[in-house]
Amino acid sequence: MAFNQPKGTHDIYGIEAKTFKKIEDVFAGLAELYGFNEMRTPIFEATELFTRGVGDATDIVRKEMFTFDDKGGRSITLRPEGTAGVMRAIVSQKLYATDDLPLKYYYYGPVFRYERPQKGRYREFRQFGVESVGVNSPFNDVEVVIFALTALSYLGFEHVQLKINSIGGATTREKYRTALIDYFAHDIEHMCEDCHVRYEINPLRMLDCKVEEDQKIIAGAPKIQDFLTPDEQTYFKKITETLDSFGIRYEIDHNLVRGLDYYSDFVFEFHYISEKGENYGAIGAGGHYDKLLADVGGPSLAGVGLAFGIERLYLIMEDNQLLEKEALGLDVFVMNVGENTVDDAFSILTLIRNSGFRADMNMDKRSFKALFKRAERVQAKLAVIIGDDEVAKSVVQIKDLHKEEQVTVAYEDIVAKLDEYLSADEHEHHHHEEE
Ligand code: AMP
Repeated sequence: MAFNQPKGTHDIYGIEAKTFKKIEDVFAGLAELYGFNEMRTPIFEATELFTRGVGDATDIVRKEMFTFDDKGGRSITLRPEGTAGVMRAIVSQKLYATDDLPLKYYYYGPVFRYERPQKGRYREFRQFGVESVGVNSPFNDVEVVIFALTALSYLGFEHVQLKINSIGGATTREKYRTALIDYFAHDIEHMCEDCHVRYEINPLRMLDCKVEEDQKIIAGAPKIQDFLTPDEQTYFKKITETLDSFGIRYEIDHNLVRGLDYYSDFVFEFHYISEKGENYGAIGAGGHYDKLLADVGGPSLAGVGLAFGIERLYLIMEDNQLLEKEALGLDVFVMNVGENTVDDAFSILTLIRNSGFRADMNMDKRSFKALFKRAERVQAKLAVIIGDDEVAKSVVQIKDLHKEEQVTVAYEDIVAKLDEYLSADEHEHHHHEEE
């Protein structure tokens, strides 16, 4: 019997794995530059952490969690997002008991949501996120936005759209909620099934509805900005002014409410539209939260966080020629071609690797033709050829696979010769880039 990957998951290898690592490295490196440190939390947590932390009115908690009882009868859930786990760790480890606030952490790893799989939508996908907890300042909010835009520009993304909104605090949202319930009361019977459920438990989410008929109704709904208190307005204004002062472009989207219940005040999403106009939807999102830490048993500290979906970023990079294909190549392929050459070839291979070059060889017997094909596939720059004649004389042939040059080199000179070839190669490479 053959197995396939479970529905909604995917195997990541080759250029995709390389690119995922690169995305992670770019985000993590920049996060450290911004004073974030890594946190790794468990892949599974007590189910209640998410019902309280993410909110039991959200789509994620209502419909999308991978929940099961462990053998001890505890209800366990595979994390559907990264923030709740970080908050739980801050509480469990009493990290909040410090004067050095905000606490700044980044995380990277898989999250799980039982969604309907489609392009760019998986049941297991990866998120990179940051959280900054403990200081209630618009500058902390702007900081994570600048971080995100900078990381995206390092990865080559040029058509990023920033959408922002303020959803106020709990009191404001309660008033707004009541206004929405009044407004939709006339029309709810004509709206979609999802809207019915949301009307009952979380009417703000109705603003997200993608059904065209419903959108006509939604267009006339009251707007959250008319409910913001003067303080909430001032806070949001400080954010927009700061973004303006950096020349950061954004669109205020009054229907942006986000799918997670913990947000308050500032919320934002990053969207991507390619040069050709294809809209990839949200690639990352986040916002400010004021009660999340308290909701999971900690002190009442505000924070801000965001998360990017790595699969979405990859999809865009793939479609828009942002992948670095050559990153897969080896420096050297050692061709072990004689009857009694494998011992020497393997020693030489090890020496080459210990000298810091990416190298591989054939352990089995292969024809010359097959080996050249293979060297091409692994994008090797040089071949080190070892046949029985070479072993007898303690030499190898080094062949530049791009230039068809070949030289005979004594065992003890191999590393120096490779160095010469490969650093010249690098020079040429840089020279090209400058041109
Ligand atoms: P969220 O935690 O819902 O705010 O999502 C943050 C980001 O994760 C989104 O902007 C997407 O890029 C990505 N994302 C969300 N759901 C999925 C999914 N099912 N598959 C792949 N990426 C996703």
